[in-house]
Amino acid sequence: MEKTIPHIEYTKKTAQQLLAVEEPEVQGLYRLADRIRRDHMGDDVYIRGIIEFSNICANNCLYCGIRAGNGKVARYTLSADEILETASAMATGHQMTVVLQSGETPALGDEVLGGIIRRIKKETPLAVTVSVGNRPRETYRYWKECGMDRYLLRFETSDPGLFLRLHPGSTLEERLKCLNDLQDIGIQTGSGFMIGLPGETPDILAQNILLCRELDLDMIGIGPFIPHPDTPLGKERNIYDDNREMFFKTLAVLRVFNPDAHIPATTAYDAVFPGEGRDLALRRGANIFMPNNTPACHRKDYFLYPDKPGVDDPADQCLESAVARIRALGRNVGEGPGHSIKGAHVAPSTSKAVGASPSRDRSR
Ligand code: SF4
Repeated sequence: MEKTIPHIEYTKKTAQQLLAVEEPEVQGLYRLADRIRRDHMGDDVYIRGIIEFSNICANNCLYCGIRAGNGKVARYTLSADEILETASAMATGHQMTVVLQSGETPALGDEVLGGIIRRIKKETPLAVTVSVGNRPRETYRYWKECGMDRYLLRFETSDPGLFLRLHPGSTLEERLKCLNDLQDIGIQTGSGFMIGLPGETPDILAQNILLCRELDLDMIGIGPFIPHPDTPLGKERNIYDDNREMFFKTLAVLRVFNPDAHIPATTAYDAVFPGEGRDLALRRGANIFMPNNTPACHRKDYFLYPDKPGVDDPADQCLESAVARIRALGRNVGEGPGHSIKGAHVAPSTSKAVGASPSRDRSR
């Protein structure tokens, strides 16, 4: 495979052709993705610790276990002190980024989160990633002033009709505007999608990959759709249930199309391939690991999908396990915050370039 693709045309047709490869060629696709990852991102795997600080959400995304309409969820919100305590415990040298994640709700005041970001930046050496959904441009700007380094906002599907069905009251256009605002403001921006949603077609899957490239993202997170029983999609199946290799093929093609983006081995891969999913993802294009640092007493209340791994493991055990898995693959644990290598969104004083590539002009 590596030798048969001397020059890659980044088109939907190419994505579809690569997604369609079968054994034994698929092994060549994985080797190609791994080689591109190594050439562009190096052998460092950066560890980002997630704190799921609130499971309160005003939205009703059809696939999500903590959707507002799920009355079985015990709702919680960590206090600022609890978040600071958890973040401070993370700053051991292995996890130099904290990812603050919650449901999307206007009840979470901009100033409250802004104050938490300021405190983390003042009291710890951590880079701060935030993932709390669609917000006004001015809010993103304010949080950047507070010290926010990065923002994650997955578009989930590139198909406007499917997006609308899955996210009642919200449009793909609005989501893309948020992503555009984040990039305009100069925040390292991550997005991504689910693989195998009911209603997804091969054409949509290829378009998802292409959209990631067109958005020129700093980070791209993807993972298989896993039906949650307490949601409207609870009785649906992943459309690739009988062809789960597609989850890894998608990851590999994503890396081929996005050589310079950070790509996490998301937890959902371990849920589908217990004990080895994230290792395989790291060998097929991924370069980021994101262990859960949410206080153990709340983990079971943040079930976006069933069989989520690590729910009963203490945070230090999740970290130890992540470090051991990375080293067992012959890779290094990345030092420093592991900012975007694209340059345009990174303050020079804190960036750590790995396999440096030229900065890009993101003006559109
Ligand atoms: S996916 Fe996010 S915005 Fe949608 S219901 Fe779940 S937590 Fe809320």
